[in-house]
Amino acid sequence: MTRLPAHDVLFEPIRIGPKTLRNRFYQVPHCTGFGVVKPGGQARFRAMKAEGGWAAVCTEYCAISPDSDETPFISARLWDDGDVRALSLMCDEAHEAGALSGVELHHSGVHCPRREYRLPAIAPSQLASEYLDVVPKAMEKDDIRRVQSDWVKAAIRGRSAGFDIVYVYGAHSYLPMQFLSPFYNHRTDEYGGPLENRARFWLEMLELVREAVGDDCAIVSRIAVDALSPYGIELEEGLAFIRLADHLVDLWDVNIGSALEWSKDSGASTFFEEGWQLEWTRRAREATAKPIVGVGRLTSPDLMAEIISSGVWDIIGAARPSIADPFLPRKVELGEYDEVRECIGCNICIVKADPGGNIGCTQNATAGEEFRRGWHPERFEPAANADRDVLVVGSGPAGMECAIVLGKRGFRRVHLVDAEDEIGGILRWIPRLPGRGKWARVLNWRTIQLGKLRNVEVITGARLDSDAVRTYGAEILVVATGAHWAADGLNRVTHEPIHGADASLPHVLTPEQVMVEGKRPPGTRVVVYDGDGYFMAPGIAELLAAEGCEVELVTSHDEIAPFCHVTLEDVFLRRRMHEAGIRFHRSVVLDEVSEGGVKGTDEFEEAFELDADGIVLVTHRLSNESLYLELRGDEPALEREGVEALYRIGDCVAPQLIADAIFDGHRLAREIDSEQPAVPLPYRRERPAEVATAAVG
Ligand code: ADP
Ligand code: SF4
Repeated sequence: MTRLPAHDVLFEPIRIGPKTLRNRFYQVPHCTGFGVVKPGGQARFRAMKAEGGWAAVCTEYCAISPDSDETPFISARLWDDGDVRALSLMCDEAHEAGALSGVELHHSGVHCPRREYRLPAIAPSQLASEYLDVVPKAMEKDDIRRVQSDWVKAAIRGRSAGFDIVYVYGAHSYLPMQFLSPFYNHRTDEYGGPLENRARFWLEMLELVREAVGDDCAIVSRIAVDALSPYGIELEEGLAFIRLADHLVDLWDVNIGSALEWSKDSGASTFFEEGWQLEWTRRAREATAKPIVGVGRLTSPDLMAEIISSGVWDIIGAARPSIADPFLPRKVELGEYDEVRECIGCNICIVKADPGGNIGCTQNATAGEEFRRGWHPERFEPAANADRDVLVVGSGPAGMECAIVLGKRGFRRVHLVDAEDEIGGILRWIPRLPGRGKWARVLNWRTIQLGKLRNVEVITGARLDSDAVRTYGAEILVVATGAHWAADGLNRVTHEPIHGADASLPHVLTPEQVMVEGKRPPGTRVVVYDGDGYFMAPGIAELLAAEGCEVELVTSHDEIAPFCHVTLEDVFLRRRMHEAGIRFHRSVVLDEVSEGGVKGTDEFEEAFELDADGIVLVTHRLSNESLYLELRGDEPALEREGVEALYRIGDCVAPQLIADAIFDGHRLAREIDSEQPAVPLPYRRERPAEVATAAVG
């Protein structure tokens, strides 16, 4: 395979201030859950991307001082020399792999949760945060001077940690933007009022930081050029600020949105197409000749090359595409286009990292596991028991991933068998839900991988019973038979079925019946009952509404699809459903389903009733575990057939996120030659050095 000449432009070096990027791929700052708390995790995670060809890798937001304490979220910090030591590890590893390292120095101002710090937040004016329970202290001149001096000290610490790139971070409605935005800044002194005054804090900061470290480090400013809401500035002011500050900046990192609505920045694929930010961020070119980096979940090398060739931006920024495939630049460079694991825009990486978690990714099971489990996304150790034959039953996300990793670990023969005519399990139909089309990438990438592995054979249209599995001829059996939606209304609130709910009746439906079997309610009035809280109920509601049904979405949750809040989809989802005419009923527990409608109780324990022709039950998923249990229940029979090991993975263990089912399949295959593969090997934990000292002393 060779690279298309049109993509050569992506591999031209470019200078930013005193530094040179080796190509045009730049990992913009993004959260991980590592911060300075897990320096090993931080270092190896970023270094993997450096190895994968990114020219620069940046930290997540990095607090300059305790009054920007992000607890319970995990930010990086540069408060003292201990933080310098923690982050220098990342710089060393990034440098070793040929990348520059960047630190996103930040102060959150009014948007500061401070669960550790406890003292009041500070902000330009005493105006409450629009999304946190914070009313700040209005900064006095002394506070302004101190924050600026803290920023400079953090920049100097950053330089000594080894960072090549130092940010003055103003996006996401953080402190410099709070000074710039009339929404947050009601001051009447020289820091408030006209644009030149509101810009003063940010400009002074840039000047001071530049003076302190500008000879050695590239100075980058991140700015949301348009907040697309009141929580920042509008485009014309954004461009005006870029003009004012241009002489102080080596690289403009441009995006859109705000802290409350960073859903517009980290847009889910359900609502945002690749490159959607360009509409606003391309305008930055009017205001500067300095290099520009922008984002927009870019994974298409054609679009990237077009952006650079046309001069709109100079550098392709990425957070999520670099998580889904740390080796994206390398693969494009080598022309291995079909190897790129494209981000699907599901935002599970955010769910995993925030607050205080460990980053993970649907597409890339190794994300966040580089240090603690020592996993490399592109390298696989030959398995000690590779001379065995393996049968994987079920080709959903878990089964596919497991078979691929077993194949890459050199097993003699791996058979991936599925009852259906096509592989993919739930991925055969989930991408058909409104807006979920990009999720098909999870299946597409794995289909291509399976096709390349000569030791893995895919067999479809074969439903295996326990006898067939036992006598298949494989020494290792992996059951990945997935899960199904309850057909009787079993739910998390009552832990019981719903009276009258039975999906064998024409007016009661499960998601699989709607999506796979094409079953439809007998009339047009439909209740979709959600006890799940994620995308399934809204998806089915939208689908049926588009087909002309009058849909009532009834949920036992206080919110519509609460899990979609963490995936940054909730606001858009509600709006789109509202526009489709779907009516919402929150905090309702149904206890009876009949041909004419549903009955239940609301949060005030008052009777709830709706007339309907049919109901779709999205209440609870249950593992398809009977095959596994039958096999497990007759160990002597397994022994007789020469079976050495039997495992189960994915939804067959417990219904879970696609990301977790894939992780489970991957984990088993990585550890299938350990002493007890069913039990995960312990992972490396990182404890603060003080704990070790205290334990000794
Ligand atoms: P997961 O998310 O855990 O990977 P899925 O539900 O997506 O699970 O996939 C399970 C797959 O297993 C489905 O494609 C289904 O057809 C297949 N399957 C279930 N039972 C059997 C069986 N007995 N024999 C072969 N394939 C099976
Ligand atoms: Fe992309 Fe989803 Fe992975 Fe995040 S979790 S990087 S959105 S595929």
